Amino acid sequence: MTLAESSAARAAGTQDFDIDRVRADFPILQQEIHGRRLVYLDNAATTQKPVSVIEALERYYYLDNANVHRGVHELSERATRAFEAARANVRDFLNARNAAEIVFVRGTTEAINLVAQSYGRWRFKQGDEILITAMEHHSNIVPWQLLCEQTGAVLKVAPINEHGELIMDEFDRLLTERTQLVGIVHVSNALGTINPVKTLIRKAHAVGAVVLVDGAQAVAHIQVDVRDLNCDFYAFSGHKIYGPTGIGVLYAKQSILEAMPPYQGGGEMIEHVTFEKTTYNKLPYKFEAGTPNIAGAIGLGAAIDYVTSMGLGAVSAHERSVLQYASQRAQQIEGLRLVGTADLKCSILSFVVSGTHPADFGTILDQLGVAIRTGHHCAMPVMQYFDVPGTARASIGMYNTREEVDVFIDGVARARQMLV
Ligand code: PLP
Repeated sequence: MTLAESSAARAAGTQDFDIDRVRADFPILQQEIHGRRLVYLDNAATTQKPVSVIEALERYYYLDNANVHRGVHELSERATRAFEAARANVRDFLNARNAAEIVFVRGTTEAINLVAQSYGRWRFKQGDEILITAMEHHSNIVPWQLLCEQTGAVLKVAPINEHGELIMDEFDRLLTERTQLVGIVHVSNALGTINPVKTLIRKAHAVGAVVLVDGAQAVAHIQVDVRDLNCDFYAFSGHKIYGPTGIGVLYAKQSILEAMPPYQGGGEMIEHVTFEKTTYNKLPYKFEAGTPNIAGAIGLGAAIDYVTSMGLGAVSAHERSVLQYASQRAQQIEGLRLVGTADLKCSILSFVVSGTHPADFGTILDQLGVAIRTGHHCAMPVMQYFDVPGTARASIGMYNTREEVDVFIDGVARARQMLV
């Protein structure tokens, strides 16, 4: 097989996934926790970093550290080249038209706040509507609530069913000529549901609304093509795709970004400043006030290279098989109820066990070396809908194995015996 053929096979998910090689790339996984081999199943909260990302950060600080764009010396030029190469990487990864459409931010949360304040604040008025779904993360709820308070716009919420799927008829009913913006999560962090975003975007555009997709839980599992989706905004965080914390991306169509005022003022986002009037820098710098997270962006670029070299098709096929195995085994545990059973889902296994509190599973599993998350997962309305105080959530990344699932499930069964 040629290199090109093997890359194509990996992208399509038709080539064997070399899990041992992948695991060897993540040094943190090689350790013991409480005397047991670490089983890391908290990937929806944050993913671990491969050696290539750690080395990219190290290389930057060892050799190239300088501020970007304004310097004339060699280090500044190197740092600028690496920073802009990372932006080009993101552009290619998302299949955006232009690097000007890639704004570096701190993460998904900041990206959504940027859109709410810069796109919505001056445009929305009394009676305009913003439509979201009942499975959103707080990051895709609260910025819109703040915006509604500021503008008099109204927040509408499309409900979900008992599987954790969006009820399409209700979405259609709530989507009207008054809808100015639709905010949808691509993959729910509490349920794992994959939303049919392309269809939803088409429907929203038909009534003249723009669409923001919260891709925080999608980019590490699904190949995203913003041009094919035709979304207006797409947000994600570096740390959920094997990159550093403190760096994220807002993709937005160039024509929309051009029409938006700056989000924050300061250095870098200006073209010319006088006390009388300031003019703004070109895109995307107009939205990048202050010294950016240079190392973070470079680390994100390396993470994207890493994920691309593995092939998202192969990654998601592997993760799907691990998730299916985990779901089957989990359902054999007496009293266990899966929360989130959508036909189309990825990565997430959320559950409750009757007669127990989810938090107790997290504590007991930790003693067995297994890292999961318990609580409301920043999606309190989802918990309210399912009438649970929270769930225990295992979330699968590319390095997880069936053997790890066995350790996790045996641990849940043991915890249940202790708790019931
Ligand atoms: N949206 C979803 C679906 C998430 O899962 C998360 C984080 O868990 C966020 C938004 C917020 O991401 P960040 O905290 O990186 O800004």
